[in-house]
Amino acid sequence: MSTLVIQDLHVAIDGKEILKGLNLTINTNEIHAVMGPNGTGKSTLASAIMGHPKYEVTSGSITLDNEDVLEMEVNERAQAGIFLGMQYPSEINGVTNADFLRSAINSRREEGDEISIMKFIRELDKKMDYLEMDQEMAQRYLNEGFSGGEKKRNEILQLMMIQPKIAILDEIDSGLDIDALKVVANGINQMRGEDFGCLIITHYQRLLDYITPDHVHVIMQGRIVKTGGPELAHKLEEQGYDWIKEELGIED
Ligand code: ADP
Ligand code: MG
Ligand code: MG
Repeated sequence: MSTLVIQDLHVAIDGKEILKGLNLTINTNEIHAVMGPNGTGKSTLASAIMGHPKYEVTSGSITLDNEDVLEMEVNERAQAGIFLGMQYPSEINGVTNADFLRSAINSRREEGDEISIMKFIRELDKKMDYLEMDQEMAQRYLNEGFSGGEKKRNEILQLMMIQPKIAILDEIDSGLDIDALKVVANGINQMRGEDFGCLIITHYQRLLDYITPDHVHVIMQGRIVKTGGPELAHKLEEQGYDWIKEELGIED
């Protein structure tokens, strides 16, 4: 089992504090959803976990199995088994999708234990079939000319190929039609298991119709202010966030 622990995390952008003491623990075998109104710090959380230089962690800690994630470079975080869709450059000239995936897989393996080309191709074929992706996408340059929906599907392909311990998926559902949404959800559901934990960040409940999270958290004003089960997401869908604000005495 692996565990990502975020403790009393404070994050500032250009000197302005956005996250103000956020606590969250994600174990493998768990799917967590983080929801919340726009501008409350959801993407800031993802960016801080990924190590985006613009997001300054002013205090608190992030650890993966007691290793200090904040001390790691971005590529070291990936090697340690944290996956962030956004960390991958949107377009890389001259690198095919397949090349990129193979080097990402091998960067998590010991030298001499690289995945064989045959095995890689077999896995890639299988997963692209599963995600209903055109085989031709493998030989396209990474994200070059991919539509919004293709990029999201490709992010799930990366997830399924790289097999991280913990994945942080920020708005993986945005801009997807219902068929693509189901495909993306199926991919995430297929990853479920003892060696995989996931944080799904979403503004909408829609994706959670297809992926039942174990825990749902609401983030407001830079903190997790409420935690519940899947029923919390349904309540938010029906009633919005005002009742939480009232409960907590938060003013906009
Ligand atoms: P969410 O994902 O919950 O909608 P964000 O984490 O993107 O919210 O943003 C939280 C706050 O931080 C907002 O007030 C936003 O304007 C600000 N912010 C986010 N990213 C940046 C940035 N790169 N530069 C300046 N301000 C930012
Ligand atoms: Mg604090
Ligand atoms: Mg966001």
